Amino acid sequence: MIISMKPHATKEQIDRVRERIEQFGYRVHSIQGDERVVIGAVGVGDVTACLEQLEAMPGVESAVRISAPYKFVSREFRQTRTRIRVNGAEIGGDEFIVIAGPCSVESEEQILRTAEAVARAGAKMLRGGAYKPRTSPYEFQGMEEAGLKLLRKAKQATGLAIVTEVMSESDVDLVAEHADILQIGARNMQNFSLLKALGRTTRPVLLKRGMSSTIRELLMSAEYIVAHGNPHVVLCERGIRTFETATRNTCDLSAVAVLNELTHLPVLVDPSHAAGRRSLVPPLARAAAAIGADGLLVEVHPAPENAISDGAQSLAIPEFERMMRDLVPYLRLWRETRAAAGDATM
Ligand code: PEP
Ligand code: MN
Repeated sequence: MIISMKPHATKEQIDRVRERIEQFGYRVHSIQGDERVVIGAVGVGDVTACLEQLEAMPGVESAVRISAPYKFVSREFRQTRTRIRVNGAEIGGDEFIVIAGPCSVESEEQILRTAEAVARAGAKMLRGGAYKPRTSPYEFQGMEEAGLKLLRKAKQATGLAIVTEVMSESDVDLVAEHADILQIGARNMQNFSLLKALGRTTRPVLLKRGMSSTIRELLMSAEYIVAHGNPHVVLCERGIRTFETATRNTCDLSAVAVLNELTHLPVLVDPSHAAGRRSLVPPLARAAAAIGADGLLVEVHPAPENAISDGAQSLAIPEFERMMRDLVPYLRLWRETRAAAGDATM
């Protein structure tokens, strides 16, 4: 059950609702939303009787039963799209948001050149990993704190918001000091202690789908973050492992349409990790816009042939500029479709 309190419900009213829920044998989770307190009740009890009583209590706006295993992130819980405002841009709103930049922050020159170029071409945010999850322990692990400082410099130079990965619970505070959005990589999608720690921050989280995770598991991971107090979550489809070997992963674009039905959270597509090959990035980006994604996460490097990580899938700057130009008619259609759909599924 989810109980939404009225915007000006008093503390006493909220406490009384909590007590009543507990009397019915449920456990209580409450989150302080932007304008109201929302209480989630989980467990087994007499739902119908409990809902009836709660609906009649002072300060309660609505009490509803949610059948999905994920509650706060479900469309049943909230029919309007979640919009996440970051640094003047809005993910999940009326604009298709492109987040671009290198796989890894490698040097001041590299990140500044990329940031200036992607900003000029229309990206609203800069990506770049300072902590890198690498398959081999002998590969470059990222510039860590020095990389975070370079990202901050790039933000000062361009005004772009910063999206960067946090791999460990112990780095959350440090990364949150430098980043506007905390990225959780595919390999950490089910790192539950990390997800709980993200619930305690106020920074938005970009949660990437695990490469072998189902859509339901992705939503359950998002639920962890929201249930622990942080409602600002953006999902990202980045390709899943299948029997196909022609691409690095299989870009599951249908996940975007499925997620748009199941959740109110914004959904991005990362065509770079999905494809693994730069020539496939622009067509997948166009398809992502067509299917109703809220934006893209794209790897761009000033000299992909020299990139320390993921060079093969990184677009060179002119290729990124071209991709952005080629997206224009698709984005016109995207805006029309979004405006017509409003909060409904696109
Ligand atoms: C990345 O964005 O550079 C990255 C490591 O992505 P993923 O976690 O999706 O593999
Ligand atoms: Mn990468």
